This record gives sequence, C-alpha cells and structure tokens, in this order.
Amino acid sequence: MADIFDQIIAGEIPAYKIYEDDDVLAFLDISQVTPGHTLLVPKQHYTNIFDYDEAITNKIMTLIPALAKAIKATDPAITGMNISSNNGESAGQTVPHSHWHLIPRYDDDDLNDTLVPTIDNSANYDQEAYETIATQIRESVEDSHGL
Ligand SMILES: [Zn+2]
Repeated sequence: MADIFDQIIAGEIPAYKIYEDDDVLAFLDISQVTPGHTLLVPKQHYTNIFDYDEAITNKIMTLIPALAKAIKATDPAITGMNISSNNGESAGQTVPHSHWHLIPRYDDDDLNDTLVPTIDNSANYDQEAYETIATQIRESVEDSHGL
C-alpha cells in the first residue's frame, strides 16, 4: 500500500523536486507554510524514525544541514528555519512515511510557532510560483558544497 510519498517517489504524483539521489528525495511541501518550505524523505519506506538503520540515519542527518544552508542561501530574508519530523500518531504524524520539514523563517512572517505544521498556503500558489521557488533552491543545492 503506497502512501502519498511513495507515489511521489515513483513519479505517479508530480512534485517540485529540489534534490534527489539513490536514497532520498527533497521537494517543495505543497502547503508552503513559508516560501521555500521543503520536505526531505527517504525513498525506501521507513514509517518513521523508529525504523531507521544507521545508513539512513547518517544520510538524513547529513543532508538536513546541507539542504538548510542551500535553502537559506536563496533569500537573504530567510533568517531562521524550523526543522521538524513527527514520529507516530501520538506525535501528530499524518503520513505514515518518514519525512522532515524544513520551514524557512522570515523576521516578519508573524507565524505562531505552535501552528506552523498546520498552515496551508497552497491556495496562494500556482504552478509557476512553485517552479520559481523550486528552481531557486535546486540551483542553490547545485552551488553548495555540502551535497
Ligand atoms: Zn511509504
């Protein structure tokens, strides 16, 4: 039973891809809590962090700072970043495939930190807006030395 991230990884559902290698895929979160909001997922199905072996742990934990730096480098207005993963239903995990949110923060974003994971701004974005952001971050990833 393929969850939505398996379907994105398989190319059955389109996504605005940021970075991809044999082990992981990073793409824009459609909700764009803030511009540049990115998801990082292992390609292999790990339900959550409690399934992680050493190899995927090393991969994910190395990529998170590299992606964070690449996203931040796309816009000087990005002054912070929330990075989070919900693990288990009791922690609010809604898609049963491990994923990491990288949510850029801006000095004037006026977000209530406790509500960040539930915000959905997708109504404000069209395909061109997503592609503009995804292209900026992809280019920054390609320019960075951490990947
Ligand atoms: Zn899955």
